[in-house]
Amino acid sequence: MATKSLRRSTAPKASKVVAAKASKPGTAKPGASKALEKNKKPEKAAAPQAKPAPQAKAIAKPAPAPTLKRGSNGAIRVGIAGCAGRMGQMLLKLLITAPGVLVVGGTERKGSHVLGRDLGALVGGEPLGIIIGDNPEPLFEQADVVVDFTSPAATASHATLAAKAGTAHVIGTTGLDSDQMGAITRAAQRVPIVLAANMSLGVNLLEQVIEEVARILDTEWDIEVIEMHHRHKVDAPSGTALAIGEAAARGRGVQLRRVSRRGRDGHVGPRVRGEIGFSAIRGGDVVGDHTVIFAADGERIEVTHKASSREIFGRGAVKAVLWAAGKRAGLYSMKDVLGFNLGTSSSAPGGV
Ligand code: NAD
Repeated sequence: MATKSLRRSTAPKASKVVAAKASKPGTAKPGASKALEKNKKPEKAAAPQAKPAPQAKAIAKPAPAPTLKRGSNGAIRVGIAGCAGRMGQMLLKLLITAPGVLVVGGTERKGSHVLGRDLGALVGGEPLGIIIGDNPEPLFEQADVVVDFTSPAATASHATLAAKAGTAHVIGTTGLDSDQMGAITRAAQRVPIVLAANMSLGVNLLEQVIEEVARILDTEWDIEVIEMHHRHKVDAPSGTALAIGEAAARGRGVQLRRVSRRGRDGHVGPRVRGEIGFSAIRGGDVVGDHTVIFAADGERIEVTHKASSREIFGRGAVKAVLWAAGKRAGLYSMKDVLGFNLGTSSSAPGGV
C-alpha cells in the first residue's frame, strides 16, 4: 500500500515554519521562533537518514519511505502526546536537548489543567513558545514523529491520525485491547509505527533470553511471571509481563492465550502442566520489576529485571523516535530499533 508522502519543508528556517503554523494550541505559536531557535541543531547533528526498514512480519507491505517534514536545519520534528504525564514530561526533557530533534508541540487530554501552558515551562525550563493544546490533529500534521504515552483509547485514535497525516508514531501506551490493536495495525500499513510495552534495552534483552530458556526447557518446568509496579498503574498484569509471557510461549511453541493463567484466588486446584502464570503486585513507587521463574522438581531458575529509573523507557523512546523517522510503513518493535531481533521472535510487539 502506498505511503502518503510527507510534505517537505521549503522554508528557509525550521523555526519560522513552526511559528507560521502555530495558530492552534498544541503547537508553536507566532513569536516562538526565538525560543525555538534554541532547539535548532546544526545540519551535521541531524539524525541519520532513513535506512531500508527490516520487514515487520505479516504487516508491512512494500511502501515508499515517507519524506521527512524536517526543516532546512535537518532536525526531526517531534510531537509529544500526553506531554504532562510521567513519561510525557520525561520525554519532553530528553527531547528538548536531544541532538537532531526539534520539539514542535505537545498535547494533553481535554480538561487537563496544563492546557494553555508553555511546553518548556511545564518541565521547569525556559519557555519554548509552544502552547499545550488538546487537539492532536495539528500535532500530527506538523511532526515527523509523534511519541505517545497516553491511554489506550487516545493512542488508537492517534494512530488513525498518524496514518492520515503520514506521520511516524512511537507508542509506549500499554493495555491496548484487540480493537485498539486493530486500529494500530491498520495505520501501520500506511506509516511506520513502533509499538513496545517496554522500551528499555534490558527488558527487551530479557524477553530474548526467556524465549531461549523456554525453548530449551520442557514442560517439567513450570513458568511463572511476577511483576511489581507503583500504586498508580491501572492495568494488570503489566504489558511487559505479557510480552515476557509471549516470549516464553514462543520459545515453547505454544500460543500464550491457550496456556495463560492470570492470577490465582480461592480453590483453584493444582497447577496445570504447561501453564504460564502471571502475578501482579502493586505498591509504592516501584518503577517496574519483572521476574520469570522456571520451577522444576528439585531446582529453580529465576531471571529478574528491575527498573530503578523511568529514564530507561525515555531513552529507549528517544532512540525509537530517531529510528522511526523516515522508515517504511510497518509495525515495528523495540527489537527492530535496538537491532537485536535475532530472527527467533516475531517482529510484532507482544502483550501491550
Ligand atoms: P500518566 O498517567 O502519568 O500519563 C498519561 C498522560 O496522558 C496523562 O497526562 C494524561 O492526561 C494524558 N492523556 C490521556 N488522554 C490523552 C489524550 N486524549 N490526549 C493527550 N493526552 C492524553 O501515565 P504514564 O506513567 O506516563 O504512562 C502512560 C502509558 O505508558 C501507560 O499506558 C503506561 O503503562 C505506559 N508506559 C509504557 C512504558 C514503555 O516503556 N513502553 C513505560 C512506562 C509507561
